[in-house]
Amino acid sequence: MTRRTPPRPLNVEELFPELTPFRTETVRLHPRAGRPTCRDSSVGGPLLWPVREPWPECPEHPGSPMVAVVQIFRADVPDTVPFPQGRDLLQVLWCPRRHASQWVVPLVHWRSAEEVGEVRRTPRTPADAWYGQVPRPCVVHPETVTEYASWDLPDELWDALDARFEQVEEETGWNYQYHLSTAPGTKLGGYPGWSQEPRWPACQVCGAPMDHLLTVDSTEEHDNRQAWTPVEDRDVTWEGAGLSLGDLDGVRLFECRTCPGRPFAHHYGV
Ligand SMILES: [Zn+2]
Ligand SMILES: [Zn+2]
Repeated sequence: MTRRTPPRPLNVEELFPELTPFRTETVRLHPRAGRPTCRDSSVGGPLLWPVREPWPECPEHPGSPMVAVVQIFRADVPDTVPFPQGRDLLQVLWCPRRHASQWVVPLVHWRSAEEVGEVRRTPRTPADAWYGQVPRPCVVHPETVTEYASWDLPDELWDALDARFEQVEEETGWNYQYHLSTAPGTKLGGYPGWSQEPRWPACQVCGAPMDHLLTVDSTEEHDNRQAWTPVEDRDVTWEGAGLSLGDLDGVRLFECRTCPGRPFAHHYGV
């Protein structure tokens, strides 16, 4: 079943023309509990991983397998995020155990699906995975939506617009940050799902600011963000990936699209 986010309740660019240059697109993945196979795009599903390659292990816990977090076939997502040449499969894993230096330890891998050949069985989740760090197997329902910067708006522009944001909220009940700007939930491209001041990492190789690849969110249901609830999910009970990342926050992954091998970095929680 598709998932359709309702249109924004107000026309952002008509009300705030200054925001037009900050328009972008993201692909909401809308993970829903299900039984994906390794040939499907998924959250928490089995990966199309070749038997000839070892399964990734955590650098801090040698011998401990990482868990599958997201797998996306290029054919399932519009061209919001450019895949590397010759690659049509994005795979994201992480180690779900406790770490001294950071929370999850992620890995981003791009590959060509047709070169996989015999498929390795996805290993069991480590018994001592930390609560809420292993996604429940979900099928995904990718949907492209428009976003406008929220935390990523330059301070001067935020200051200039603040009184008008407040006035619109008083008149209509719609809050710019929660209801009109960035989409909640797990999403590919677009603005990172920040819950605080942005911290864009710099590429360790070339020093340039990195691009946002993927935000894995604990949930896409937030009490104050129901304007983003897909039409199909209203008044229905459904199960998502069941993650509990930080204080119901998310993991944000970044990459450098100009350096060879696409170096990546991540930012977790608050
Ligand atoms: Zn680990
Ligand atoms: Zn770089």
